[in-house]
Amino acid sequence: MTSILFGLQAPVVVALGTAVGYFMLIMLVIQRRGWTEWPTRTLLLYLTLSVLLSIGLSLTLWLGLRQDVMHIGVRLAADLLTASAPLVVVLTLMFLERPGAKWVALIGLFWLIFVLTVDMNLFGLQQVTLGTAAMQTEDPLRPLRVAGWAGFSAGTLMLVLVDFIQMRRPLHRNRILFWMLGLVFLLVGELLMGFDKRAFLIDVNQIGAVLRFVAVIVLTVAMVSYHLPVLRTVTRQLLAGILTTLFVGGLIFGGMLAVLSVAQQEITLGVIVAAITAAVLLAAVIHPLRLVILRLVDRFVYSGRYNPARALRDYGDAINNIVDLSTLSTVAVGIIAEALDVRRGSLMLISRRENEAVADVAIMEGMGDLPIQMAEFTDESPILHVLQQGAKPLTQYEVDIFPEYRSSPIAERLWLHSLDMEVYVPIRDKENLVGIFAFGRKESGEPYSAQDLDVLMTVANQTTVVLQNARLVSDLRTANRSIMQLNEELTESNRRLEKLDKAKTDFIEIASHELRTPLTQVRGYSDILADMVQQGGFVAAHMNQISQGITRASVRLEQIIAAMLDVSRIDAQALDIRTAAITVAAVVKMATDNYREAIRERKMSVQITDLEGLPSVQGDLQRLCQAFSNLIGNAIKFTPDGGAITISGRTLEDNNEDNPQTFVEVLFADTGIGIDVSDQKLIFEKFYRVGTVELHSTGSTKFKGAGPGLGLPIAKGVIQAHGGKIWAESPGHDEARMPGSIFHVLLPVALPPTPASSMSRLRSDN
Ligand code: ADP
Repeated sequence: MTSILFGLQAPVVVALGTAVGYFMLIMLVIQRRGWTEWPTRTLLLYLTLSVLLSIGLSLTLWLGLRQDVMHIGVRLAADLLTASAPLVVVLTLMFLERPGAKWVALIGLFWLIFVLTVDMNLFGLQQVTLGTAAMQTEDPLRPLRVAGWAGFSAGTLMLVLVDFIQMRRPLHRNRILFWMLGLVFLLVGELLMGFDKRAFLIDVNQIGAVLRFVAVIVLTVAMVSYHLPVLRTVTRQLLAGILTTLFVGGLIFGGMLAVLSVAQQEITLGVIVAAITAAVLLAAVIHPLRLVILRLVDRFVYSGRYNPARALRDYGDAINNIVDLSTLSTVAVGIIAEALDVRRGSLMLISRRENEAVADVAIMEGMGDLPIQMAEFTDESPILHVLQQGAKPLTQYEVDIFPEYRSSPIAERLWLHSLDMEVYVPIRDKENLVGIFAFGRKESGEPYSAQDLDVLMTVANQTTVVLQNARLVSDLRTANRSIMQLNEELTESNRRLEKLDKAKTDFIEIASHELRTPLTQVRGYSDILADMVQQGGFVAAHMNQISQGITRASVRLEQIIAAMLDVSRIDAQALDIRTAAITVAAVVKMATDNYREAIRERKMSVQITDLEGLPSVQGDLQRLCQAFSNLIGNAIKFTPDGGAITISGRTLEDNNEDNPQTFVEVLFADTGIGIDVSDQKLIFEKFYRVGTVELHSTGSTKFKGAGPGLGLPIAKGVIQAHGGKIWAESPGHDEARMPGSIFHVLLPVALPPTPASSMSRLRSDN
């Protein structure tokens, strides 16, 4: 055993060393990530292949081994490289979170089976024909394997390159770059491993194996760890280090040369003084020189420095006195964006919903075109949770890559993604998250440094009080506005209630007045009759007059009681409507005929126009006639002698998509006293009347001879029972200028189904 170990050559040790290294990587991956996820499993498979590959390689290099064992080593190494190339594509797809990994895995498997089959055939053939060919250490399928490897490798590189070019987020780019670096190492390593080592002076195969091992470490770290070093920063530090070493080393070397030239091989006092002077001078320049080099490198690799202390002071000065939310948002975002050299940013307001585990996020205007819509975050969301804790800013990179954010609702992640921001900074008030600053990528393409994030946290802390103040002011303004509106509504409804209340108290007066007037007349006539009986003289002419008076009074009483009954039916929605196809012209004619006498007496003109061509409506002739009569009667009553009444009509189409309908509109216009705008709705209420009770008299047709205030409520009830509408229009009440009024009546051409008719339809369906 010991003799074998001591007999091992250096290349074999290297190969076995990498095998152990790969094995340790396997352990590391399992320890960090377990093996439950597919990307990790694929990585573990790849690492296992790499262990075997290294073992195969060590077998081929082991001089003094039996030929057939060496041959197995060659085959093993070659087959494993054939299998690992497609596996790298699969890994890359998984790393980039691109689809298609399964398909590539399948293609890779077919490719491997194909190569193995050809290999075995050759193997068998050669055994038969050549006999000793099986003992060969060369791989006869080399060109085929190299072609396959090159194909898969080129594919992988293309994939990564395309993703890298498309990606604009710095940290994501850095991650892809990291992978790309590993890939390039890997491909160069495998290329070197494949060269015929006799062609070169140095052992390129060994270098290749080591390079491949380094590359696999890089790829493994990229897959396992989420915090990758920022390559730009690493490059910068490396460059600065190399340059400093070169310059400082050169200086020291120059100094030493100078001292040596003075010394001339003898160490005198002068030489010591010269050496000390040179050392002091060098020590003095080294620090400034280092600074200059650092600055130069900074300028060369990155040019976005700012002074955090000054930026913070400027920020504090600028926002301290702002009380307006949108000003705060634009000013704060503007200042930070300028300091950090970003072109996109916003302030988001967080409001917790009461009794709900949800927080609403509203975007304020900031920089760049931002979506205006709101979003909501649930309490279970890890994104909200980490911001709520407020220990540090959250980056979009973390949201996209870190496994702990995978469980947040997809809508939240999509929304954040659509904002195109790089970093989210929590603004907290004691325990609560009140806002979030969000900023996009820097113009320089550099990711946010740790210092940037610190500055942003400080800025957010400075903003808390100002933001809370501004929110309070904004809430106050909103509350104020709604209080004012409420106040207006309250005053308005108060006014309405007052009027209605008055109408109710007036009812008693009106009713008693309206009923008492005819009763008094009847009483008067009966007194006259009693007198006549006492005096014993009945005059036929008198008797006739008295009976006419009693009839008139009782008719009036009947009318008032009928009106009251109608109103109560309307209130109970029990108005009986018997419909038939009728024309508006006929109804208007019937209604106006009732007033022929009055119109003549009052010397008024009535004009009826445009009613003939109107479509007929489904309606109750008696009821519609009653409604129209009330309107015409009012027009006569509230228009002075000699005035004009115009009744006209037109067809209206309602093009509502769901329910297109045709209406007939009838307009009753007069040249009377008009109606105040504030009364135009109230006059349709029961017993409501404009002006004083005394004005009311027994429903006559004389000027301003109002009735009990039931005419319009009845008209409204009838029209509504027909599925129609009624409203008044007038410039106002003015008894000097007589502005007139127009009453509009809208009747649908087809009557809408009433509950009763739909009931009967249901019954007939059964
Ligand atoms: P009334 O029985 O008193 O006529 P209405 O309900 O018909 O009751 O009308 C209510 C009030 O509406 C009337 O008292 C009157 O003040 C007002 N009004 C109705 N029609 C007109 C009109 N054409 N012009 C002016 N005022 C009107």
